[in-house]
Amino acid sequence: MTALSAARDLLGELTGTAPDGIWSAPGRVNLIGEHTDYNEGFVLPFAIPHRTYAAARRRDDDRIRVASTFADEAVEVALDDLSSLFPSDGDLRVPEWSAYALGVAWALRELDASAPGIRGVDLAIASDVPVGAGLSSSAAIEGAVASALNDLWNLDLGPVTLARAGRRAENEAVGAPTGIMDQMASMLGVADAATFLDCRSLETQSVPTGFSDAGLELLVIDTRVKHAHSTGGYRDRRDACERGAARLGAPALRDVSVEDLPRAAALMDETTFRRVRHIVTENQRVLDTVAALRTDGPQAIGDLLTASHASMRDDFEISVAELDTAVDAALRAGAIGARMTGGGFGGAAIALVAHADVATVTDAVEGAFSDAGFAAPHIFTVAPSAGPRRDA
Ligand code: ADP
Ligand code: MG
Repeated sequence: MTALSAARDLLGELTGTAPDGIWSAPGRVNLIGEHTDYNEGFVLPFAIPHRTYAAARRRDDDRIRVASTFADEAVEVALDDLSSLFPSDGDLRVPEWSAYALGVAWALRELDASAPGIRGVDLAIASDVPVGAGLSSSAAIEGAVASALNDLWNLDLGPVTLARAGRRAENEAVGAPTGIMDQMASMLGVADAATFLDCRSLETQSVPTGFSDAGLELLVIDTRVKHAHSTGGYRDRRDACERGAARLGAPALRDVSVEDLPRAAALMDETTFRRVRHIVTENQRVLDTVAALRTDGPQAIGDLLTASHASMRDDFEISVAELDTAVDAALRAGAIGARMTGGGFGGAAIALVAHADVATVTDAVEGAFSDAGFAAPHIFTVAPSAGPRRDA
């Protein structure tokens, strides 16, 4: 069954009736620019064909109920109680999965709680975005719910405002200190293009990727090692970046350039410096990738992808053995570039591969995982795809 029908069926089980509509939003993969988002730098993600669907129906009262194919039980609260669900001590009063959807409802209501269209709603969620794989199932659920409520509540908000609401849900409702990249990538997806995002100004440019014209495929290698944003490593890297920027007297690491690095080395401990160096060089690699795509086409970005991986492995230290194995095996088998993608500590790697080499690279990665005693990876291709839409 497709995720679209699963969402419709679940809404049917919940309400006994058909939905008013079904909305969906895509997951995303980040081509390059990792951990640069919260440093107010540059990223280059694109939306993928995998989507999360929200079937929705208006209610006659002021309550909101959310169900997911992931969860045994629906969660129901009064709209007026939404703000009390997400205390700043991080002690969630609802199951974590539901905080993504309820958090979006809360964030949208916070913009204007007296908007006349706001009333109770039932939501049923189903998805074909792999969870915790670095493909942003979280932005996909936020985008699907934001799109549904935007229409059902007659809010008439644009994609950037909806992306901000999703981020607010993730940061303040769920308590995951993530940047704005995922939501922007999902909300602004365009077929065959990546979204070049300046995370400071939120200005975006659509950059054609030209993969298929160049005979290339982007392979996603989901290691199936789960990551968790709300815990340890991610927070620690954010702290290191803030510390590094403060030592340099910079508002954010965005304001530090590759030429500043020798000076930076003298101002901080070695570990903090390596964290800084990753961000500073990664920002430059994003700019270089955009320039290369525009002038020379996608064949020219392979080395930048691979250099990004080395920087995350050695300087930012967010890779794991499975990701390194995926990248090394893909490159050995002929990928023109490969890197881990997403927040790290698990999740997925990507490899840019000539169409004719997809099977060879896939076999090589599977073989390397088996030799290393790792669980079999999940490998598939993704083409840059469109953003949110109303499906029914
Ligand atoms: P990623 O965004 O990389 O997939 P995150 O940890 O940011 O990983 O978000 C995953 C979390 O988002 C899940 O653990 C769950 O709480 C929530 N989530 C994502 N998709 C769904 C869904 N279809 N139904 C319910 N919750 C979901
Ligand atoms: Mg996420």
